[in-house]
Amino acid sequence: MNEIVILSGKGGTGKTSLSAAFATINNNTIVADCDVDAANLHLILQPVNYYDRNFTTGSKALINYDTCTNCGLCIDYCRFDAISFHREKVTISEISCDGCKLCSRICPSHSIQMIPSDKSRWYAGNYRNGKMVHARLAPGEENSGKLVNVVREHAKKTAQETGWETIIIDGPPGIGCAVISSITGTNKAIIVTEPTNSGFHDMKRVLEITANFKVKTVVVINKYDLNESISSKIENWCVENNIPVVGKIAFDPEIVMAMINCQSITEWKPESETSKEIIRIWNQVKTDKCIIQR
Ligand code: SF4
Ligand code: SF4
Repeated sequence: MNEIVILSGKGGTGKTSLSAAFATINNNTIVADCDVDAANLHLILQPVNYYDRNFTTGSKALINYDTCTNCGLCIDYCRFDAISFHREKVTISEISCDGCKLCSRICPSHSIQMIPSDKSRWYAGNYRNGKMVHARLAPGEENSGKLVNVVREHAKKTAQETGWETIIIDGPPGIGCAVISSITGTNKAIIVTEPTNSGFHDMKRVLEITANFKVKTVVVINKYDLNESISSKIENWCVENNIPVVGKIAFDPEIVMAMINCQSITEWKPESETSKEIIRIWNQVKTDKCIIQR
């Protein structure tokens, strides 16, 4: 099994566009969208889901108004400011509630119950080049790392059932626990960066994580021509640190047009220089022939 994770230290680098392109180059591909906080790869790949399952992330406090005396004591105890008077009635904000259970313990009339929070969901389905697993973490919910694990486990199970080799993981941006859940145990990581100082800085932070987990990592510089001076800095730094820069993609407005039309760039403009470069990058990464570009 070949699990390849696509990462970026920050949002907006083109990570998902690149994941969509990789996902539509070959058939018999399994895609795991692990950007569970803001999943949007399914908008391009448009899977037809055969699973739609709940994911329980913890519990939320719920008031029984038949017995609540509106005394307001629970407001004083909630450390998350989730309880307040709304139109003179004690109300709990589902989004702010952390599920700590304290209010349910101190309520003199035992009017607060903890209810399992199961509004997050995960899905599995068929898309035009294979199978896709993705998820949606409900607003304000925690445990994104656990939901990423659910997505990855189902993707692996699908690979075992189908005998298909490649799992493409669209990782979350940043360096939080969902990123760590997306990286652990993968074979390779591709970091998509852009030629800005923040892009350069965030790339280094993600590289620290992949190095900690001993995952072989390569870099792609997207929109490299928007600032060739910073692109050169990134390339030189990567060469000095033995990180292969496997490709540089020029800014291409057709990538946006492809997304608007629910296609990847390799489907939308297969003969474009952008598509050729992405296919070249993918063939290197997939076959492990990563060349340092200078
Ligand atoms: S402490 Fe209990 S009775 Fe008092 S306002 Fe809160 S829920 Fe109602
Ligand atoms: S469970 Fe905890 S966070 Fe939620 S409303 Fe009660 S005290 Fe606040």
